[in-house]
Parts: sequence; C-alpha cells; structure tokens
Amino acid sequence: MTIPADLAKPTLLGEYSYELHPVERGYANRTLYINLDDNTIREKPVTQQMKDLFTGGRGFALKLLWDAVTPETKWDDPQNELVIANGPICGITAYPGSGKSTVVFLSPLTQNVVDCNVGGYFAPFLKFSGFDALEIQGKADDDVVIFIDGDTGKVTIERDSLEEVDSHQIANVLTERFGGSEDKGKRAISVLSAGQASDYVRIGMVNCSWYDVRRKEARLKQAARGGPGRVFRDKKIKAIVVRFSDMGGDKNGVVDMPLIRKAGQRINKEIADLDDKQNQMRKVGTANIVEVMDHFDLLPTHNYRYGSHPDTHKIDSKVWKESFTQGLPDGCWLGCTMSCSHGVDHFPLKTGPYAGQCVLVDGPEYENAAGLGSNIGNFDAQKLLELNFYCDTYGIDSISFANCVAFAMECYEEGYLTKEHTGGLELNFSNGGAVGLELIHQMARGEGFGVIVGQGVRYMKELFVREYGADPKFLHDIGMEIKGMEISEYLTKESLAQQGGFGLATKGPQHDEAWLIFMDQVQNLLPTFKDKAEALHYFPMWRTWFSLHGLCKLPWNDISPENNKQTKEPAKVEEHVENYAWIHQGVTGKPTVPQDLLDQSERVYNFQKVFAIRMGRVGRKHDYPPYRAMGPVTAAEYESRQDRYDEQLQRLVEINPAGLSTQEKMAHLRKYREGQYEQLVDAVYQRRGWDANSIPTPEKLHELGIDLPELLEVVEQAKKKI
Ligand code: SF4
Repeated sequence: MTIPADLAKPTLLGEYSYELHPVERGYANRTLYINLDDNTIREKPVTQQMKDLFTGGRGFALKLLWDAVTPETKWDDPQNELVIANGPICGITAYPGSGKSTVVFLSPLTQNVVDCNVGGYFAPFLKFSGFDALEIQGKADDDVVIFIDGDTGKVTIERDSLEEVDSHQIANVLTERFGGSEDKGKRAISVLSAGQASDYVRIGMVNCSWYDVRRKEARLKQAARGGPGRVFRDKKIKAIVVRFSDMGGDKNGVVDMPLIRKAGQRINKEIADLDDKQNQMRKVGTANIVEVMDHFDLLPTHNYRYGSHPDTHKIDSKVWKESFTQGLPDGCWLGCTMSCSHGVDHFPLKTGPYAGQCVLVDGPEYENAAGLGSNIGNFDAQKLLELNFYCDTYGIDSISFANCVAFAMECYEEGYLTKEHTGGLELNFSNGGAVGLELIHQMARGEGFGVIVGQGVRYMKELFVREYGADPKFLHDIGMEIKGMEISEYLTKESLAQQGGFGLATKGPQHDEAWLIFMDQVQNLLPTFKDKAEALHYFPMWRTWFSLHGLCKLPWNDISPENNKQTKEPAKVEEHVENYAWIHQGVTGKPTVPQDLLDQSERVYNFQKVFAIRMGRVGRKHDYPPYRAMGPVTAAEYESRQDRYDEQLQRLVEINPAGLSTQEKMAHLRKYREGQYEQLVDAVYQRRGWDANSIPTPEKLHELGIDLPELLEVVEQAKKKI
C-alpha cells in the first residue's frame, strides 16, 4: 500500500505536558482524558470517594465510562469511550501476574458495557508514567498515534498513517521508533494496536505488546472480548504507545514491601517446586487442558455439538509442548514466574499477505486450541497456528471468530446457507482449517462472506432469518452467544452451574467470571441449588477482584499449595487468597482480610450490573444461554450420548425412555433441563441480592454503600419497565 507523502509524515495534532510524580500506595492519583474530536488532552484527579467505592482498574474504568455516556449512547457514537485502567496492585514485580490492563467500553457486539483484560506492559507503564486510567473519547478524522511519555511527562496525538496495517508489524515498528535500536530502550515501550480486520468486523480486538529481549521482538497479548478492536479503529486510533524507562521493583510506592515479598516468595517456591507436577504452565501454558477437556466430554467440537473427538490428540498439549520454544522466560509482565505466555518461533506461513514469511506465533492458549481447532473441525496443528497468528495480527478475537465460523458451518450443513450466500465457499466441518483461513483473510480485506461472519453470531442469526429464510428457533438454539457475546470454549451441557456461569455473567459469557465445570460436573461439589448459587456468587466476585487491581487470575489457581486438597474448600485456594490480602495490605497500607477484597468486588460488580441496566438490558430474559449450552438440540447429538441421556431421563425425570422416539426423549429432557435452569436463576438472584427480574435491590445497593441517587434511579426506572 502506498501512502501519499503528506499523509505519511506524522503531524502533531495535540500536545500536553504534565508534572511527573511518584506513585503513592499503588495510585498515581490522576487519570488521563483524551478527546479525539478536538484533540483535547487533560488530566483528572482521582478522589478518595473514587478509591473507596470503585477501588481501581475495572472499577475506575466503569465509573469514567458511566460519566461519559448516556443511556442513548451507541458503541459507534463519539461519546463512547475506550477506557484502559491498571489498578493499585498493578506493576509490583515481587508477586507473579501483576501487569494486567482492563479495557472497558460500550461493545459493538453486546450494545452494552463490557470489560476485558490483557497482559503486556501497558498498564504498569501507564501508571508509572502518571495515570491510573486512560480515557479516550471522540473520533479522529485520520489515523492517529497517541504517545504517553512517562520519561518526559508529555502526551501527544499525531496524525500518522503508518504503512504497517497489522499488529505484529505496528508493535515492532513503534517499539523501535519510540524506544530506539537498543534493547534497553525497547523494553521501556508498550504498544496497543488493532490490525486491519478491526476496520471491518465487530469481533475486533486490541493487542498489547511487550518487548522480548531474548527473541528481539515485540510480543502480543490480547484484550479480546466484546469487540474493543472495532471501537479502537472506529476512533481511528492506529496505536497508543507508552514509554517508561526508569523501571524497577519499587515503583508502586508500597507501604510494606516485606509483606509483599513474603507472599511472593511463598508462591514462587510453589511454582518452582510444583508446576511440573501440576499444570506445567511453564512448559505448555493453558493449552495443558485440551486433552483433559476432551476426556471429560467438555471440549467444544463442531459448534458445541459434542465434547470430544478422536483426532484431539493432533491438537493436544503434547503437540504444543513440542512446538513452543522451551526454556525462555515467557512472562507477560516482569516477575511472573508462572511464565505461561509461550510462543512458536519461526513459523512458516502458507497463506495470506505474509505467506512465505517465518513469524513468531504467540500461543496457542487453550481457547485458541479449542476454538480454532475442534470447534470448527480443524485438527491440523499447522492451520491452527496459522489461524492463531492471523487472529492476533489482524485484530480478531479468536473465541468469537471460532464460534462465528462454527455457527456459519452448521447453518451451511443444515442447508440454511448455500454457496450462493457464501460466495462459493463450502463451509463444512470436514474442511474447518481451510475454511477458517479463507474467512479470516476475507475479514482482513473487508470483503466477501467473511465480513458477515465477523459481525458476530447474533448479527448472523438475525440476517439469516430475515434474508435467507432460516428457522429462527433452530438458529437461536445453536447460536453460541449470550447477550451478543460469543461463549467461551467450554461445553456446558452437563454442568448446570457453568450454564449459569455463562448465562448470568454481566458482560457476557466469558470464562474469566465463573468457571465451575470441574467443581460441578467432574467433582460433584455443588449438588444443590444453594451450593451452585453460592459458587455463582463467590467466584464471580472473587474473579472480579483481579480486574480491580491489574492482576492475572492464573497464579491464583493454576498452581496450588501442596496441602490445598486437605483444606476446607480447595477450589478457593485459601492460601493464595491470603497472599492477595497480604499484597493488598502491603501496597495500600490498609489492614486487609479476604472479606475486604470480596467487598471491593461486590461493589463494582453491582455497579456494573446497574450500568448494564441503565444501558437498556432489563429483565431476566437476557440471562439465558442457547439450548445448545444446556442439552442436545439435534437427534444426532442425543443419539451420540444416548446411554447418558436415557439414564438421566429414567433417574432424574422419572420417564422410561423405552419405546419413545428420539424427538420425544429430547423434548422431555429439554423440559427438565430448562426447568432446572429456571430454579438456578432464582437461587442466584436471591444470593446476589437481586430481584426476580435480575435487578439489584435498593437494599443491596445500600448494604454495599453504593446507594447513590443515580444508581437508585436506574433500578427504580427499570422496575417500571418490567
Ligand atoms: S500467568 Fe501467564 S498470562 Fe498471567 S501474567 Fe504470568 S505470563 Fe502473563
């Protein structure tokens, strides 16, 4: 692509100088506001009330977005913001997994507020440069690069039509431009970017970089869920760069470093001693569970029809362990001894604009292996890696991509789509890898059927019914999205608690909120509705806490103390919860017990729930998964696990399946399972302090100390709409 000379030269559009000062007790005590409509740049103070009610990270980001939008604001209005926040613990290096950014915005997929998180160095560098959050409103006329220079105390907006269009290039080019040619300078840079597909598809995501000194290359992590990349590009942001050169382990202004070190030493020893015997995160990362999921019939296969496949061994952890370059420190933030961000080096691409080049593939993580593998019928590891690479560099959420492609494939196989609709493509699961690659390149070029697929499952459902005469009921049953967001890569048919974990998640069905499959289905630790409701209260609250502080969830429970199984509630990993109380106290100086952490989360969790209601999501109807997440939709699904389902009909539904047709048996099972889900929903609402219409009660808001007039008004108005 040739760019006209006048556009190719960066042009300064806005500039702002600020005073550098050290972080105090985890806070920079101000946020940065940028408006791309008129290139305003200014800082906002962080008040004590903001800290008390919203803590930091996701809490701050939600509060800033709440103040910026109205109930009428749409995702592509200039008022919508992209808010990127860190959190008070973010940036410490003595405890693993402390470098996460949380990204909050109104989503093009859910038409509501979404948060997602990402590793890489951006969040800590943003704080050490002077800001607890970055808020970007408005839309630029041409592509811009925003540069936050924590070395000199200057923020600039430059019009900059870089020749590079994809994240693996943009990250490297800007790392060198702002960091210089030496490793030391490059290590001080982190770049946010989205690739060319984010110009066209709503499932677009944002990459966050860090410079890998061993590989001499920028690495990428993804803020993926809900379409942040589409918002990023809709604002014409080409990249956001932060520079902070004076990095050290003491930048967070902590009160009690020995207490933080005590927690860090405890977990680092466990990782060193036990990781090899437990999950091997340091060798294979989250992809260690592919074969485990397959074994328990939980691996989404062919659009979640099935939970296992005979060819899974071709994409399981052994394959990735051999593919990953071993022995490198693969932490996505300094001090992360869990070091799970593995990559495949020198991977030769065969398709697309970079065919013939050897590239670094960041991943695959479990979600990529399952989504870009079994769920679209692809058991070719090379094609999976190629899809992984292009999802990342084009700026496409791999989970959403997988579900969208799988949905389109099933529609094609069921006869709702023909080659006329798909531009000649045969969308069969038997050809999943090749089909996926063709569609992904179409998304990047902004042409063909791929662009329709990239608008999300909900969009396709409506289009196929409206334009192609598809059966709305069937499409509703098989479209694996809730609230407009595609479901994470776990088959939930046999776990009622996990159905609720996805269905009742405020932002949409993302596994970072609740992951209860093992507790519920495999270990049978949640036998009653009360048990399930308690878990669906505790774990979402607990997991929310990581995003308030800029922490990675993985070191919490992907490594366990040796005696964890002997503790009262092993799933909570109580020793690690205690670690987090210690590091919170160590950073902020506030005496902290675990319940304090849950209280922080519950405030923000309920605030986010009220925010979603304010944006129009009122009523329990939004909290239901498609039936495919609950049970067999087609006769082929039922008959593939007939013994299991027949036994359940007999034992649980008290119906003798003998002599019944498959359709009759499916109808009985469905009635039973949908009834169970209704009971679960009621139990969870009650436990969370919400009414039967999924609205937090005024009493609950009062109990949490967030009974602010604007929140109470939202819940009162919502009740009138029911
Ligand atoms: S555990 Fe993995 S994903 Fe989490 S911070 Fe460490 S390297 Fe990054």
